[in-house]
Amino acid sequence: MRDFTLKTYKLLLAHLQDSGRRFYTLEDICKDKPQDSFVVLRHDVDRKPYNALKMAELENAKDIRSTYYFRITKKVFDPECIRNISSLGHEVGYHFEDLSSLHGDIDEAVDSFKRNIEKFRQIVPVSTVSMHGRPLSRFDNKELMKRIDFGELGLLCEPYSIVEKLDLRYFTDVGRKWNNDSVNLRDKITGQKGLSLRTTFDVINALADELKDENLMLSIHPERWEDDMFPWVRNAVWQKVKNAGKYILIKTRHGS
Ligand SMILES: [Zn+2]
Repeated sequence: MRDFTLKTYKLLLAHLQDSGRRFYTLEDICKDKPQDSFVVLRHDVDRKPYNALKMAELENAKDIRSTYYFRITKKVFDPECIRNISSLGHEVGYHFEDLSSLHGDIDEAVDSFKRNIEKFRQIVPVSTVSMHGRPLSRFDNKELMKRIDFGELGLLCEPYSIVEKLDLRYFTDVGRKWNNDSVNLRDKITGQKGLSLRTTFDVINALADELKDENLMLSIHPERWEDDMFPWVRNAVWQKVKNAGKYILIKTRHGS
């Protein structure tokens, strides 16, 4: 069975359900810490919004609610797609990158962030946001987070702080591998407590084993998951090229 297909994703969802965990959105866990065992599925939509819609439909068919963060770029910010995902019961939020888009101008970035939240709110309610990594930019969008008054904007939280606050185990498919630290430039909380999982099947196996008593947040990028052979192979090859590039960048930045 190929990894990073919707079929494999469906299998992952089935095992998560069988593990007895309940599914919560970011908004849910920001409001109240769940008392039962739980998992949060967080999707950063960096590209291909209609891949996200497919994933959202698949989850909805299994009565699962998750959270989708959309970039505001021309190709990703698709109001119809966003509205459809929201109408399936999922949470939608803003995947922001205002600081890197504006080349580090922090005051401009704060204003732009506020305007963009309003653009989203003309389509769907928004109460949480997540940061886009932009690995090749010098500007870290985390700096912008420090300048945003969440309460004033009616925002509840963002994923990084909540992972720390609720002591969740966090895994991401960045690099098209789970927790591949060597290619992870900005998603720094990856691989907490030193558990190394490479394939989705490793994640599935760990659910009943090393992760049995853990609450989870899984960060899943819909554009990486394809059933069709051609885009799947293109993704696999392109990811290898990107991983090699990021690896060199990390080595250069760390001076080794
Ligand atoms: Zn992103």
